[in-house]
Amino acid sequence: MNILVINAGSSSLKYQLLDPENGVLLAKGLCERIGIDGKFTYKAEGKNTLDAVDVAMPTHSEAIQAVLNALTDKENGVVSSMAEIDAVGHRVVHGGEKFASSVVITDEVMAAIEECNPLAPLHNPANIIGIRACQSLMPATPMVAVFDTAFHQTMPPAAYMYALPYAYYENDKVRRYGFHGTSHKYVAGRAAAMLGRPIEELKLISCHLGNGSSITAVSGGKSVDTSMGFTPLAGVPMGTRSGDLDAGILQYLMNKYQMGIDEMLNVLNKKSGVEGLSCVSSDFRDLESAAGKGDAKAALAQEKFAYEVRKYVGAYAAAMGGVDAVIFTAGVGENDKAIRSMVCRGLEYMGLKLDAGANDVRGKETVISTADSKVKVLLIPTNEELMIAMDTAALVK
Ligand code: AMP
Repeated sequence: MNILVINAGSSSLKYQLLDPENGVLLAKGLCERIGIDGKFTYKAEGKNTLDAVDVAMPTHSEAIQAVLNALTDKENGVVSSMAEIDAVGHRVVHGGEKFASSVVITDEVMAAIEECNPLAPLHNPANIIGIRACQSLMPATPMVAVFDTAFHQTMPPAAYMYALPYAYYENDKVRRYGFHGTSHKYVAGRAAAMLGRPIEELKLISCHLGNGSSITAVSGGKSVDTSMGFTPLAGVPMGTRSGDLDAGILQYLMNKYQMGIDEMLNVLNKKSGVEGLSCVSSDFRDLESAAGKGDAKAALAQEKFAYEVRKYVGAYAAAMGGVDAVIFTAGVGENDKAIRSMVCRGLEYMGLKLDAGANDVRGKETVISTADSKVKVLLIPTNEELMIAMDTAALVK
């Protein structure tokens, strides 16, 4: 079965064609600068690569057409015709409280996704444009929406409610939604497979640590709490996002520096996190190298990040009444052994022992705790596209 996975942004679009039954990736690429001066990238095993070549893309329709042309190209394509694409899985950022799982796209579903636009004004409208462009070019192909928020809809009210006047929830839907759900769901499933135990029996803490980071408590295969909130600004510090902070700071800084709320939010989203703290970079490779040369602020940023992740691990073990495995995934989690080691430091009291030798590894699905560690530590490369393809295939079969 061939599933085309589309992740549409406002001026870019990532795609992969894969077979979810065996996990084989047939082709992948990227359309960039849609509506500007279109650049197209295409990669497929054993075929000629296209790297940011000029392709006119005034709208997402031309971008999707370029994808279909490349996939079906006689010489460098991977399928002989569009009929060999069985379904399309679309990443959609926000499904609000309407979607607790992936869903086959119908007119009603499109209307419901549109109703979620105010919750993700930068992302959902672009996702919708991507879906509409695909629908018009592939009218006979089933389409599925896979939401970043859906996996977290199983959280209990005590986890998702904010202690604000109740009316803000009832009238305005202000609550914790959580994000990275597709990634957390994927790695939780892989963890159960690695441990050889049914997911229904397991208490897992999934640490998705990348440019954006979130930690999720997964009990019996269901998300029961997660560190991101109403928006992806909450939780642990990130590349450039502050993570959790005292809302009183906003009033203090806005008054002192005569900042409006947009400027303040720009600071919290784009100038904070490990970049803001280190004054070096949002990239953990740069932090590692600066800290290695004695840069105290870079070392502090690493320590602060690891400390906050560790606190969530402790909090979620408490929330679930125990933990069987801690999972590290995404760019930092998969590659940065120093951060993994710093996060796990001091957790021996709860039966978690990292194996320094096994932790000396990158980007590979493997156990990195000692044989006698009661709590297993797992490194699991995430694969959101494969998860989207798996959900899509399951729904259209
Ligand atoms: P993601 O958002 O999951 O793509 O993660 C991107 C981030 O992963 C980058 O900004 C880096 O901070 C981090 N990263 C990627 N490769 C490495 C590496 N080899 N060592 C440390 N951090 C890395």
